[in-house]
Amino acid sequence: MSTKKALSLMLVVFVLVSLMVVVGCEEPEEVVDPDPEEVEPVGPIRWTIASGWVAGVYYPISGAMSRVAYENMDNISLTAEASGASVANARLIGTKDAELAILQNDIAYYAYNGIEMYEGEGVPEMRGFFTLYPEHCQIVASADAGIENPGDLAGKAVAVGPLGSGTEANAVQILEAYDLTFDDLGSVERLTASEAADFLRDGRVDAAFFTVGLGAAAIEEVAIVKDVVIVSIEDDKIDWLIETYPYYSKEVIPADTYSGVPESTTVAVLAMVVGHADLPHDLAYEYTSQIFENIDTIHGAHERGTLITLDTALDGMPIELHPGAEQYFQEQGLID
Ligand code: GLU
Repeated sequence: MSTKKALSLMLVVFVLVSLMVVVGCEEPEEVVDPDPEEVEPVGPIRWTIASGWVAGVYYPISGAMSRVAYENMDNISLTAEASGASVANARLIGTKDAELAILQNDIAYYAYNGIEMYEGEGVPEMRGFFTLYPEHCQIVASADAGIENPGDLAGKAVAVGPLGSGTEANAVQILEAYDLTFDDLGSVERLTASEAADFLRDGRVDAAFFTVGLGAAAIEEVAIVKDVVIVSIEDDKIDWLIETYPYYSKEVIPADTYSGVPESTTVAVLAMVVGHADLPHDLAYEYTSQIFENIDTIHGAHERGTLITLDTALDGMPIELHPGAEQYFQEQGLID
């Protein structure tokens, strides 16, 4: 081997050995456990919104709210769940089984203050977000059942509202205005809204109470195939109801709101959104602002959705606002 070749070989060996040393001595990469405090949450936070009857209005409206969340909120995903509605929904907020809920403003007031059906088991941790649209107390009766006013319900077969509904509470109060209780009815049925519609259609009940936004599918489903009326409440009884239970207002239901059903006069409350006081301020703010910034999606979900507006968002608010929602309405100049 020439000296030149020997030198080249030594050089190659030197380079190889140096490489092996460098590689061999390389510090193993240190594996550090991430500090759980610093870990970014993976994906959006999942919230449930307790809604109501599939054949009612809360359900399509909360479905539209979850669509707004899906399309516009990076940090919240919203799942709408059907339920008996108002009375049950306030309890779901209390037990933290739902982060948000839609319910009637009269029921929200009772739950927050621990009165009426919430005596001794109030939900003071419930906070208001915004109000939605009027819900009329609609007593749908077979046209041939001879029911001229709620007093005529005595002795009749009546669906008084689903279990856990606000409807049932309204039925108790409307009957009270006529000095009646459930004991005076011929039979008392607690059915889902869709079952109540089936029972009315088949003549298995004479009448059914629904406190729900006008145009609810449950009522139209009956009106389309059967002669029904919405029973009017007389003026003096309406005055008594408003005086005794302040969240009622007097409302007329125009003729043909449902196929062939004549005009009637009744009382109404307001639907509203509530949430748990513990919901983070920034997320509550984000939810409120995105709903109003994408209100067209809500308006498209149901005709009653078109009554949900920023201007009326705090009308009839019966309880303390969530601070995140409050901040949004302050920025919009609705409150100081
Ligand atoms: N207001 C009804 C109730 O609480 C529910 C109506 C709906 O689901 O749209 O009884």
